[in-house]
Amino acid sequence: MDFSIEAKLQADQAKIFAFVKDHIVPLEAVAKNYDPYDNIDMAVLKGLRAQVKAAGLWAPQIPLDQGGLGYGPIGMAVLYEAMNYSIFGPVAFNCAAPDDGNMYILNKVASEAQKDRWLLPIINGDVRSSFAMTEPAPGGGSDPNMIQTTAKRANGKWVINGRKWYITGAGEAAHFILMAKTGDGARDGLTAFLFHRDDPGWHIERRIGIMGPEEHGGHCELVFDGMELDDERVLMGEGKGLKVTQIRLGLARLTHCMRWLGLSKRAVDIASDYVSHRSGFGIKLIDRESIQMKLGQAAMDIEIGRVMVMRAAWRIENGSKARQDISIAKIHVSQLLNRVTSDAIQICGARGYSKDTVLEWIYRYGRQALLVDGATEVHQMVISRFLRQAESNFWGWGVGHD
Ligand SMILES: Cc1cc2nc3c(=O)[nH]c(=O)nc-3n(C[C@H](O)[C@H](O)[C@H](O)COP(=O)(O)OP(=O)(O)OC[C@H]3O[C@@H](n4cnc5c(N)ncnc54)[C@H](O)[C@@H]3O)c2cc1C
Repeated sequence: MDFSIEAKLQADQAKIFAFVKDHIVPLEAVAKNYDPYDNIDMAVLKGLRAQVKAAGLWAPQIPLDQGGLGYGPIGMAVLYEAMNYSIFGPVAFNCAAPDDGNMYILNKVASEAQKDRWLLPIINGDVRSSFAMTEPAPGGGSDPNMIQTTAKRANGKWVINGRKWYITGAGEAAHFILMAKTGDGARDGLTAFLFHRDDPGWHIERRIGIMGPEEHGGHCELVFDGMELDDERVLMGEGKGLKVTQIRLGLARLTHCMRWLGLSKRAVDIASDYVSHRSGFGIKLIDRESIQMKLGQAAMDIEIGRVMVMRAAWRIENGSKARQDISIAKIHVSQLLNRVTSDAIQICGARGYSKDTVLEWIYRYGRQALLVDGATEVHQMVISRFLRQAESNFWGWGVGHD
């Protein structure tokens, strides 16, 4: 068993971390670098993305022949954690959700013609994208079998009707992946479609306010009233929607964990710095055992999360879907992000609650981690399902075969 990482990956990690510390972290302290929704201002981002490209660090998860650095899940685990040391990091490198997951699924299952039209502009950073699945009741949320948006055949086209909500980035996105019902089968009743912002027959009903900072384009409610799409807009094939979702969400959940680990490490660093300089009742705060216990617990939680994420990444690279590992990692890392950030705020006193550090930003952002890409309880259900399936070899050490 070897837990070391190869030399090139180590070097790229050092380059990315240095770039983040030198060029991105300083941007966080200046109010005019933020848009009205607490994300990085678009003009500032444009300049930053040009710098990232010039440094040769653009889109490390994308294959070399498409302009990336060619890393798989193991490399991504190392690099995404380094990037998200800054709240603005992932989007600067083109590794933020939902573009990241959309690029992954398009590269995996789209036809060559679809890749040219729908994928390459996202890779190049020319357009942004969205993944539209969740619906208001009685439609599909945690349970995709409840999806009610329909795609029906008429005059050689697919005609889409329905409603989606909480669709990240929809206000800015040009390229969309949409999940719609095309049949009644539990496994083959859904189909994934590609559509463009300029296609007629749909509109954004509203941008839904949320408690945390927003991705560019916000979280929107979309209405489809007779949008017509050709067969060439079907992704992977009719009835393959659930498969598209499973392939996309598997790695997307893990990449969330990779990024959240970076944010958690940042929170620990901010808290450690504060207690190294602040004294009370005659001693430095860092010398108090209760503070040491909080910081030690945080470091331990993060390290457990890193090992979980890396094992899942290793299993995926070796051919497993790693579904139980991803669910375990998703629960553990989303919870530790919330716990660690809350403790870091407590350790920093009033400064932790202020906007003088990014702790409050991370705290507000972190709450969504317990919901997005599968609520905690749904992942617990998945883990328990694997536990009950004797053939899943739940406790096995190998690559696994789920
Ligand atoms: C910030 C943000 C961004 C999002 N971005 C997108 C996006 O880009 N695209 C998209 O399609 N969706 C997006 N979503 C939606 C997200 O994927 C859903 O919120 C999530 O899948 C849960 O669905 P729901 O909200 O309908 O909750 P419901 O299905 O209504 O569930 C509500 C709660 O019930 C509990 N619950 C549900 N099922 C079970 C179970 N089996 N066992 C025990 N308890 C259970 C859980 O606590 C759950 O939180 C986003 C959500 C947020 C908050």
